[in-house]
Amino acid sequence: MTLSPLRIVVCGTDTDVGKTVVSAWLVQGLHATYWKPVQSGLDDGGDRDRICQLLNLPPERWLREAYAFRRPLSPHWAAECDGQELDPGRLGLPPCNGPLVVETAGGLMVPLNRSWLQIDQLQRWQLPVVLVARSGLGTLNHTLLSLEALRHRGIAVLGLILNGPTHADNPGTLEQFGGIPVLAQLPPLDPLDAHALDRQWRQQGLSTKFRQLFAPTRS
Ligand SMILES: [Mg+2]
Repeated sequence: MTLSPLRIVVCGTDTDVGKTVVSAWLVQGLHATYWKPVQSGLDDGGDRDRICQLLNLPPERWLREAYAFRRPLSPHWAAECDGQELDPGRLGLPPCNGPLVVETAGGLMVPLNRSWLQIDQLQRWQLPVVLVARSGLGTLNHTLLSLEALRHRGIAVLGLILNGPTHADNPGTLEQFGGIPVLAQLPPLDPLDAHALDRQWRQQGLSTKFRQLFAPTRS
């Protein structure tokens, strides 16, 4: 695993758990470049458009998708519906000066083609993972299963980011059984904009947390 330069993969425990808003949070807070290598569903412009609008991100701060499929389906099937097949050889990390945030498609066991799962790609990238999970009911099972799968593959996990209304018990229970820290909790923001994300970033001391995670280790 390479902890320097600062490069992170944002994975989710499920679809629609908030990977994109958390990616935006990280891109802004870490002054990172955004890359969504595989996008399924272009009706609302896709996640890159959402991030660019939310953060008013200039063109030098995002990288073009390796694949963008029209339909909001699992990537393997979205590709086939577009008459394509995803080639993992095209998902190599693009050159990037400075921090990079990579947003995956769907959860860990989502197929990218008929013989390659998302988690196979994570193993190939060898980048540390931030796992995004929903804060409320259902997260214990989904999150602990995801952590077990990542651990089984030897993929490093920096920690969890919980998305949604604050829950009284789940953060502590996830840390206890998952054996990793909850790095942050992103509550629902109204309005959801760059300013509100920045306020949360500062309140939760995330610059310091990430600086410590990526501090060069002395031997
Ligand atoms: Mg997304």
